Amino acid sequence: MANTTSELETLLMQRSLTDPELLAAAEKAADYRILPEATVIKIGGQSVIDRGRSAVYPLVEEIVAVRKAHKLLIGTGAGTRARHLYSIAAGLNLPAGVLSQLGASVASQNAEMIGQLLAKHGISTVSNAGLSAVPLYLAEVNAVVFSGMPPYGLWVRPAADTVIPPYRTDAGCFLVAEQFGTKAMIFVKDENGLYTENPKTSKNATFIPKISVDEMKAKGLHDSILEFPMLDLLKSAKHVREVQVINGLVAGNLTRALAGEHVGTIITAS
Ligand code: ADP
Ligand code: MG
Repeated sequence: MANTTSELETLLMQRSLTDPELLAAAEKAADYRILPEATVIKIGGQSVIDRGRSAVYPLVEEIVAVRKAHKLLIGTGAGTRARHLYSIAAGLNLPAGVLSQLGASVASQNAEMIGQLLAKHGISTVSNAGLSAVPLYLAEVNAVVFSGMPPYGLWVRPAADTVIPPYRTDAGCFLVAEQFGTKAMIFVKDENGLYTENPKTSKNATFIPKISVDEMKAKGLHDSILEFPMLDLLKSAKHVREVQVINGLVAGNLTRALAGEHVGTIITAS
């Protein structure tokens, strides 16, 4: 081990940071997961929270019950209010970085609301999911709420052809799961999972229980139920090699998915 470290140190002092030998040496360290017992769940903005009480109350109840057996990092989506902001800001010709900040404010509003509903159960919202007191919350009450938008803000890498920020709350929640090396990542939305076409607009859509990133791209489904940059993040992930998208409007689905059951669509890295 000491040997590996000094070899890496020597390489780091001498080589470019993208040198192949240096990269190989940096990869040698044993795998380490920061929060291996936790699961990240993303509560959809448009798909769940925007539906208000009928969708949110039962889900909150389910979260309260299920966190007795699972450690949950609960991320929130943004949804319709963010889309409204994006349309105004894009019309004003403002850049992706500004839109990213606007979207983040909406995801934070949603985290604030979910946090208030969970408050009497001792579950808090954190303003930044990047650790801080997160381990303490997980240890004490098994759950914590965070805003799903990644905090790139003005520094977001813009997409080539649009000012809509490419990394939004699906990507933000996934990155939290991957960086912390959590056990699983579950997207809670309003459809049973992925279909061959958007089930909201196509009657012929058929359900796909399991699919890989490459198969999704081959079928032209890369921009469907998850933000498209998510697929490349998943494909190159080290820890979280699959995600499940479930229908949060069906009672019991979240509990079953957390228990490891296949209730929606499982999207695999390879
Ligand atoms: P969130 O609320 O988490 O942001 P979205 O509303 O962005 O979720 O994504 C979920 C929506 O994606 C579904 O409500 C559905 O209408 C839409 N969608 C588009 N294409 C597909 C597809 N092929 N399969 C399933 N859902 C799809
Ligand atoms: Mg979305």
